[in-house]
Amino acid sequence: MIKLTIDGKVVEAEEGSTILDVADQAGIHIPTLCYHEALSAVGSCRVCAVEIVTNGKSELTTACTYPVEAGLEVRTNSEKVMEARKLAVELLLAQRPHSAKIQELVQKLGIEEPSFALKERECILCELCIRACREIVGADAITFVAQGKDRNVDGASVVHSVEKCIGCDSCAYICPTEAITVEDIDDTRIINTPSGKLEFKLKKCKVCGSYWAPEKQIEYIAKISGTSPEEYDICPDCRD
Ligand code: SF4
Repeated sequence: MIKLTIDGKVVEAEEGSTILDVADQAGIHIPTLCYHEALSAVGSCRVCAVEIVTNGKSELTTACTYPVEAGLEVRTNSEKVMEARKLAVELLLAQRPHSAKIQELVQKLGIEEPSFALKERECILCELCIRACREIVGADAITFVAQGKDRNVDGASVVHSVEKCIGCDSCAYICPTEAITVEDIDDTRIINTPSGKLEFKLKKCKVCGSYWAPEKQIEYIAKISGTSPEEYDICPDCRD
């Protein structure tokens, strides 16, 4: 265990854990948007900005990606931090002003007037959908259409691969701005993405007759689990 200071409070932590985790364990709340505990952290939204002081030098970093070290001094609510977080949220607000998640951050940070022109675009490039599809689902079906320094251009967004996508809807579930949504209509699942609609035929339960999961998703699960697709002829409700 190592010791560090967060907002003047000495805390103990496992070396290598992140500032976000250590602050959370110490009861200090740091807001996040692109972070999810089940996924790798990328710090792309910069909402979790904190100030660190090492060797007398202060700099801003993202709490979700920065591993703690002995003697580190962290400030989570300094003027510099609050300015950085407000700027990050104002930039997000300009892109997706009607997102409930962004509005929640706007309220928390006391932002009254947006400093940037509102544009209402769908994807805020948080990468949550990309990481969920790659790290949880294993399909790796989503990529950026613009990479590197071009990521912030107006046309940047995500693209779903028709071949790889199995229609599981994990990306719609995790998207914080509803840039990706799902709807099941009769025997069809529709995933609405920034690059268009994807349609999947749903499997009908042999017992109750309800449509319960995309056939492509069932084939995928059967393949990676080494089971037969026929084992999924009955929906989970009728199996119990
Ligand atoms: S619906 Fe498609 S793109 Fe979205 S998480 Fe599932 S497999 Fe990935």
